[in-house]
Amino acid sequence: MVALCSFKNCLKPMLAKKLCNAHYVQQYKGLKLTPLVEYKVPPKGSGMSDTEWFWVLANVKGEDECWLWQGGKIPAGYGKYVYHGESVYAHRLAYELTYNLSLYGRRLRRICIYASCVNPNHMELTARPRKV
Ligand SMILES: [Zn+2]
Ligand SMILES: [Zn+2]
Repeated sequence: MVALCSFKNCLKPMLAKKLCNAHYVQQYKGLKLTPLVEYKVPPKGSGMSDTEWFWVLANVKGEDECWLWQGGKIPAGYGKYVYHGESVYAHRLAYELTYNLSLYGRRLRRICIYASCVNPNHMELTARPRKV
């Protein structure tokens, strides 16, 4: 287990002064420490699993429609989610859960214009990068 940043709900690995790289830079510059992503948690007592809550936030619609992520996002607009204690990209997790596979080391290409869309039909696997 790697040590995590001491900032509340920050799941990035600790780098220095008990903070992750981003929070260490904020502190170093004398800025107020702010959350990098606001993760949404399921309502208390709902008993939802990580997977169930994920699909609630995924805002699932028709097969061809965009499913705009309702949970935490990074500034670039991509959805982030805490799955089994790890911070992951929402669109990648949607693809993995739908097709029951691991994208480890593989790239997804988005074929719609919304960074926050998590509809697996709007993503495709790109060819493995060639060794240079
Ligand atoms: Zn941090
Ligand atoms: Zn889409």
